[in-house]
Amino acid sequence: MDRQIIDCHIHPAVDRETDFCWYKKSGTIRKQFDDLKRAGISKACGSIVVAKIPKSFEEIKKLNDCALSIRDRFPDFYIPGMQIHPAFPDESCREIERCCKNHDVRWIGELVGYLMGYPDDYVSNNMIEIMKIASKFKVVVNFHCASIPVIENLCRKIPGINFVLAHPGQGKEFLERINLVEKIKNLYLDISGTGIDRYGMLKKAVEIASYQKIIFGTDYPINNPAVYVHGVIFERLSENATCAIFSNNFLRITKLLTH
Ligand SMILES: [Zn+2]
Repeated sequence: MDRQIIDCHIHPAVDRETDFCWYKKSGTIRKQFDDLKRAGISKACGSIVVAKIPKSFEEIKKLNDCALSIRDRFPDFYIPGMQIHPAFPDESCREIERCCKNHDVRWIGELVGYLMGYPDDYVSNNMIEIMKIASKFKVVVNFHCASIPVIENLCRKIPGINFVLAHPGQGKEFLERINLVEKIKNLYLDISGTGIDRYGMLKKAVEIASYQKIIFGTDYPINNPAVYVHGVIFERLSENATCAIFSNNFLRITKLLTH
């Protein structure tokens, strides 16, 4: 069956610092996108990440400019995700405005605070100031956060944003996360990272939170994207649920739905 599959969670590798593949070099952007296509993925979205604390906002802006230039080269495949940083609230707010107004950006993240010097800092005054601007532009925020109270607090403080929590996790952690996704209207879950390999996870997630709250993602190039595509198919959800998870939920919350 020909289904559109949109990966909401990739990190394009543009040099050694931004390449998170553990066992090999990811190669050119074209090679990375060919990899994703070979796994059956039709489009991919996400931010460029570095594992260091930035000394100036210029370092963050450079990642965003790079993402925008990849979109210029691959407009039919890549949807840019931008970075912001709570150590630079004013600059981050202006950057959201620049990217959303001038470049039609719909997605922030994945934000990975633990790699960039702000572990689980998603409800500080600075971050809330930034999120308020993001809310004004109706941009979706994909973020990595291990703290249930922080996730809940953020979503409740900024009800105008659709937040996408990265990674289901496993066992008790997964159940806590998916129950929170069920409870909070503006919170979704992407299935990248740990989770899909625990057989039955996706069906359980759909049972608890509904298929409308689950979004396909891989965390490529850390992870093998084919594992996630086939992992979804193998759980034999309804066609509606499968299509929603693979693409329709993403298109709905980013307002990229054309029909
Ligand atoms: Zn990631």
